[in-house]
Amino acid sequence: MQSKKVLILGGTRDARQLAFRLIHAGHDVTTSFAGVTEHPVQPEGKVRVGGFGGAQGLRQYLQVEEYDVVVDATHPFAAIISANAAEAAGDILLLRLERPAWIARPDDNWIDVENIEAAVSALPLNASVMLTIGRKEIEPFIKRADLKGVTRMIEPRAIALPPSWNLILERPPFTLGSEIGLLHDHGITHLVSKNAGGSETETKLVAARNLKIPVVMIARPFKPAVTTYSTVEALNTHISKLGSSAG
Ligand code: NAP
Repeated sequence: MQSKKVLILGGTRDARQLAFRLIHAGHDVTTSFAGVTEHPVQPEGKVRVGGFGGAQGLRQYLQVEEYDVVVDATHPFAAIISANAAEAAGDILLLRLERPAWIARPDDNWIDVENIEAAVSALPLNASVMLTIGRKEIEPFIKRADLKGVTRMIEPRAIALPPSWNLILERPPFTLGSEIGLLHDHGITHLVSKNAGGSETETKLVAARNLKIPVVMIARPFKPAVTTYSTVEALNTHISKLGSSAG
């Protein structure tokens, strides 16, 4: 197997697992973080932090550092960096690691929406909401004075929440028991989720199903088509099968 110089665009658990797998397969791996999380869980291997300065900056970085492969292992909702990677890669092999989206079961009650604004509009008057969309996009929900509830994120936001909202700072995974307890204890009438996919945060959906709570499910944004794998193993196999020149 030929060792490859790999840049992982990270910020996800899958990206960390991929870094671990590729390093143990003998590749030279750097993970890139945007720098939005103050204390990200550190992956194995080298780490760089901060934006590249758009597609052009990324292209220059890839060329100067002479990467063989770029893996876009960013969150399914990180649309800008994925578009930049597709534009910047040029002759450098670009692969994506992305878990499949969740699919509603017959006993689920999902309200499918296209984006955050549509999610806000989908909530009925005086709903008691559990928000699980991170910290960057909660403002339009909080601005609706009739809504109340709980918002969960990994790190706190700078601006305090109004008294009708409770803040939970926690990192997944969560147990089914604790998710059911949370929805029940706060009298939640609607769960709001991005369709992130994966098993790590799926327990909230199982809890909502058990309690017959509707889920406002936000669809994934568009990302340019690139060769995509849904598992670390399959992507590792692709890279390990590459010959002396990436492609
Ligand atoms: P985004 O909107 O797609 O990207 C915004 C800008 O952040 C990009 O233009 C880029 O700056 C920089 N950036 C994003 N990911 C980067 C990376 N891995 N390395 C270096 N620069 C990066 O991204 P986002 O939605 O804000 O997400 C930021 C990070 O958080 C991503 O790495 C993502 O995997 C992670 N994350 C996002 C979500 C979510 O719901 N969006 C959830 C969990 C984790 P330049 O243009 O200057 O290069």
